[in-house]
Amino acid sequence: MTRDEKAMAYRPQTQLVRGGQMRSPFDETAEALYLTSGYVYKCAEDAEAAFKGDLDRFIYSRYANPTIAMFEERMRLMEGAEACRATGSGMGAVFTALLSLTKAGDRVVASRALFGSCLFIITELLPRYGIETVLVDGTDMAQWEAELAKGAACVFVETPANPTLEIIDLRALCDLAKSAGAKVIVDNVFATPLLQKPLEFGADVVVYSATKHIDGQGRTLGGVILGTEKYVLEDLQPFTRHTGPAMSPFNAWVLLKGLETLELRVQRHCENALALAQFLEQQPGIERVLYPGLESHPQAALARRQMGGPSSLVTFTIEGGKERAFSFLNSLKLIDISNNLGDSKSLITHPATTTHQRLKPEERAAMGIGDGMVRLSVGLEDVEDVKEDIFQALIGR
Ligand SMILES: *Cc1c(COP(=O)(O)O)cnc(C)c1O
Repeated sequence: MTRDEKAMAYRPQTQLVRGGQMRSPFDETAEALYLTSGYVYKCAEDAEAAFKGDLDRFIYSRYANPTIAMFEERMRLMEGAEACRATGSGMGAVFTALLSLTKAGDRVVASRALFGSCLFIITELLPRYGIETVLVDGTDMAQWEAELAKGAACVFVETPANPTLEIIDLRALCDLAKSAGAKVIVDNVFATPLLQKPLEFGADVVVYSATKHIDGQGRTLGGVILGTEKYVLEDLQPFTRHTGPAMSPFNAWVLLKGLETLELRVQRHCENALALAQFLEQQPGIERVLYPGLESHPQAALARRQMGGPSSLVTFTIEGGKERAFSFLNSLKLIDISNNLGDSKSLITHPATTTHQRLKPEERAAMGIGDGMVRLSVGLEDVEDVKEDIFQALIGR
């Protein structure tokens, strides 16, 4: 099996198509799917050497697998990271990354506006293991500074954040964290690896739910963790090998194919989302539109500086609260009601009653999530059809 070393020097779009491919002796065009849990040894001496670490080879698919290794290498090249490990889901990546960097007695500081399950891990699970956790308003650097001054092992943020699309200044945050000796983990799902590179701003670890734009076609779950080789080999790998959050080789193969079209899709997602955000700002019955690509976004300038594009999520508030928001959702004919995102199909959700239902009303209010707020993941349909669907649902209610 040969690895294409030259691919490492190619431009990003070429890496998305070819990066990491290891061809078998059969010279297949597409990446091969190695649906195997284990591997066999020619002799007992080889098995001994492999377990001692003297022989670099595949041992067991909880540790590594050729199809997963191709996916990890392609992700690594695109992110510009030293090392990468894939996990079975995005939450597997978030939990593993957090646990690989913390122990009892440590402190974790995180932004308040997080994906619901990330919030659960930080506010409910970590404290059970003796890890103190604190939430701050992600955009308020004074709060970060005050909390980091008290000491922290780890910082966890999501930007743009779900569902309010607030933007955290990664450079400023990473500088503060570095002075405090804290490692920064960035959940980069909304931006995708193409629109934001947290490592360049000083982040230590980047995590993805590959379920979102990386697959982008609603087929599989997947997660990715990227960082330095030292972090991956010393902190992460011992944890993943023995706790088993491994990705399935089949899912890795699907995600490899997803990466090949990622740039085309993300570009179109951004174009469609901007067109829709501008359209929504003109419609009656809508209180507010939040989209990092609009001048009206409170951090439009920061978004432009930090991101290569505003991505596919548009959040807006329907006048009249939950009742009106529900009748709007129920009147849609093309856009599907779904809490997933980053899909080729346009999907819409009502965060207050779905992804953020577990929170107390005052916690939702603190995050800026109102009862009329809906989050639209703009898909790859003809944007005129999506506009018409929204228009008929707005006037028909
Ligand atoms: C979806 C998502 C996750 C969790 O990923 P899964 O693949 O569903 O486990 C984590 N963070 C963000 C921002 C997400 O959108």
